[in-house]
Amino acid sequence: MARFGEWLKRFERLGGFWLGGFWLGGFDTLGEVLGRVLYPPHCTLCLVGTRVGCHLCTGCEGRVQLVVGARCRQCSRPFAGAEPLPERCADCVSRQPAYECAVAAYNATGVVREVVHQFKYNGKRYLAGTLADWMALGLGDSRLVSPAVDMLIPVPLYPGKLRQRGFNQALLLAEEVHRRSRLPVVEVLARVRDTGTQTRLQREARLGNLRGAFGVRPGRGVENRHVLLIDDVLTTGATLEACASVLKKAGAASVRALTVARG
Ligand SMILES: [Zn+2]
Ligand SMILES: [Zn+2]
Repeated sequence: MARFGEWLKRFERLGGFWLGGFWLGGFDTLGEVLGRVLYPPHCTLCLVGTRVGCHLCTGCEGRVQLVVGARCRQCSRPFAGAEPLPERCADCVSRQPAYECAVAAYNATGVVREVVHQFKYNGKRYLAGTLADWMALGLGDSRLVSPAVDMLIPVPLYPGKLRQRGFNQALLLAEEVHRRSRLPVVEVLARVRDTGTQTRLQREARLGNLRGAFGVRPGRGVENRHVLLIDDVLTTGATLEACASVLKKAGAASVRALTVARG
């Protein structure tokens, strides 16, 4: 009997309660039990059951594609050609980007692209944590380690877009990266002009479209600081370029960027 008591105590430490003569361990409230029964944790993509706190099943997680192989040191574009490869791609050589480098640990394909899409367009804010875990891998990239980053700056959304979507995906990601790195999030940038959707525009058109779209809020202390821009996906780099150039004009010592993925 004493043994049984000890055994029971072990479960009590995990949290739980009695229900109709049964001990339900590992839960704190009846609501939590009902929630798990009615809405068990499942993969956000394929609906297969997952462990509590996981939004992807092991199958989907296993299909996530890391960026591997040679790429441009500045914009991280993968190189397709044979060795010897240059340090930077032709684009970065001919048109020196305003940012020092843009880092992403994953390719924006398959599972990664789908999770970003669910997060951004289907309002699944809870996926910010999963995406920030992937960003944390990029944070360890040698290009971001030295000089040390002073602050995280989310790419802003135009107020109209913010109202429509209900959240700025870059800000949510920056807050999650802050939780993993303790780097401060400072909302330095403001979108001062609506640029419409960029998705159908080519790089040059995007750059032109973004001219004058961003401004620096006064008094946010970017002078002589090493800042890290945060966004979801790097595609043409036009958004990062526009943000980086206003930050450089405002006196930032360096502007690097971290995104979940590289398109
Ligand atoms: Zn899955
Ligand atoms: Zn490049």
